[in-house]
Amino acid sequence: MTNQPKALVAGNWKMNGLTAAITEIDSLNHKIANHPNMACELMICPPATILATAVLRAENLEIGAQDCHAALGGAHTGDVSTEMLTDLGVTAVILGHSERRADHGETSAQVAEKVVAAQRAGLVSIICVGETEAERKSGQALGVVSEQIAGSIPLDGTHADNIVVAYEPVWAIGTGLVPSVADVAEMHAHIRDLLKGMFENDGDKMRILYGGSVKGSNAAELMNVDNVNGALVGGASLKADDFFAIVEAAYL
Ligand code: PEP
Repeated sequence: MTNQPKALVAGNWKMNGLTAAITEIDSLNHKIANHPNMACELMICPPATILATAVLRAENLEIGAQDCHAALGGAHTGDVSTEMLTDLGVTAVILGHSERRADHGETSAQVAEKVVAAQRAGLVSIICVGETEAERKSGQALGVVSEQIAGSIPLDGTHADNIVVAYEPVWAIGTGLVPSVADVAEMHAHIRDLLKGMFENDGDKMRILYGGSVKGSNAAELMNVDNVNGALVGGASLKADDFFAIVEAAYL
């Protein structure tokens, strides 16, 4: 496809990584420096405890957070505001990941409030959507994702530079299972149509990532699908070699 936005490969470390894991960022710096013509941008989203160190160490690599609070500040023990993230030099935040929707009961309306907060602070929101296995088996995948997109992405203030959508079928996360190329193509075309319906021409420029068991061995096939503009990677992002194998397979 022509006119596609520049791809993004983002790594979600989840609740993994002590300070020593920063050496993986050093290793990524080295690999990126050796490949100045990569056809994608790279981002790592480490846990909050090492965000500041990661920002200081990353070169030619964006650092994102995994969640935020919607408020500017105040009595929200344990939470982190978007302004605190930009203050560190963080440039993006993952929002509405299925683990937060499941573990913390996050609704699309709450995700939308966080997206507004991210936009207020100048952060890019990586908004995750995706169906469960039961929803796919009962033919509801497209409908579920439509509702999540409509509910999680505010119309005001959103443009191609401040949101990325990540389609992550819940049943593919951390399982080694991946949807067929035809199913990925169908869902990404559907999301593209939804975004164009909401944001007209800007909808064509928004990045739509695929996430769920992406690794070096399947990245070329998945990243070649129309309307797939990169990947959100969990397990395979923890080691620089595994993460960069995805880049090498799809974007070098
Ligand atoms: C994720 O949790 O965002 C993810 C895609 O995980 P994994 O790559 O491990 O399936």
